[in-house]
Amino acid sequence: MEQVVIIGSGCAGWTAAIYTARANLNPLLITGQQPGGLLTTTSSVENFPGFRNGIEGTALMLEMQEQATRFGTRIQYLSRVESVDFSSAPLKITVDGKVIESRSVIVAVGAGHRHLGVPGEHKLENKGVTYCATCDGALPVFRNQPLVVVGGGDSACEEASYLTRFASQVYLIHRRDSLRASRIMAERTLANPKITPVWNSVVDEVLDVTENRVTGVRLKNIVTGENSTLGCAGVFVAIGHTPNTQIFQGQLTMDEAGYLTLAEGSRTNIPGVFAAGDCADSVYRQAITAAGMGCAAAIDAERWLAGI
Ligand code: NAP
Repeated sequence: MEQVVIIGSGCAGWTAAIYTARANLNPLLITGQQPGGLLTTTSSVENFPGFRNGIEGTALMLEMQEQATRFGTRIQYLSRVESVDFSSAPLKITVDGKVIESRSVIVAVGAGHRHLGVPGEHKLENKGVTYCATCDGALPVFRNQPLVVVGGGDSACEEASYLTRFASQVYLIHRRDSLRASRIMAERTLANPKITPVWNSVVDEVLDVTENRVTGVRLKNIVTGENSTLGCAGVFVAIGHTPNTQIFQGQLTMDEAGYLTLAEGSRTNIPGVFAAGDCADSVYRQAITAAGMGCAAAIDAERWLAGI
């Protein structure tokens, strides 16, 4: 029987692992199929305290992993939790067909990319439609081509700036007339001559006139109602995230958008189950706040196990 199982390997999961390992709880961490979580899809992280020159997202996650391992965290790599049964103690987690029993669980499953849900998007995924500029931006098919980024938040600005290294021009399609991104990011983006904002517009359809590859997008101006077509070789969707909480449905309480709702500190509605990071935070969603929540969940789990 495990003392504590941590599900997820983003900032929240690794921080929970560091704390529970140092508390001698011998944690088992299940990475999921994207070890390091969403931060590994970002480029430079400039706002994590302690790194005055910024640090690559993947490098930051590897540092956290090394730190957790140093204190004895056991890691189950690339495993996906198929289901959980929190209806009675011990808590049960089915991973790769095997049931793991544990006295406590820290859920730190993060969030995944939100999809546009328009015709052509699904069909052309990985054929020009992508959700990660740092993963795919350097591909030869995108070099010296016009590219589209959809969204108006920090992610969209970051993706657009990154893509200017490769693209002939980047069109930033946003459904409002101002960016939601932080001021520094928005100013930097709008000052970039290779980025053209297209305001008050949404992508209605992703087009593939030839060879089952993205050749453009159909746009709709939501103020004037006008339709237009914009040629591009790639569509980078950066419109936010959806929490990865589907497997907990019916067991852990969550809001309408799927974010886990916490009772007191990091406690969920099930005794012994705690949650941390983006799966339980629709407000801040920062690397540093996820790490802080991971710390809180570890301390809560430790106290709960000790019967305090
Ligand atoms: P976000 O802040 O939620 O922004 C999502 C953007 O997509 C918004 O502009 C939204 O439009 C738009 N959008 C949502 N659904 C859409 C749809 N169906 N069609 C068209 N547009 C749609 O998400 P995010 O940019 O991924 O950022 C998430 C969090 O991570 C934020 O707290 C952000 O500060 C943080 N972050 C930080 C960094 C960094 O500091 N380096 C980098 C990336 C992200 P509206 O504006 O109209 O709602």
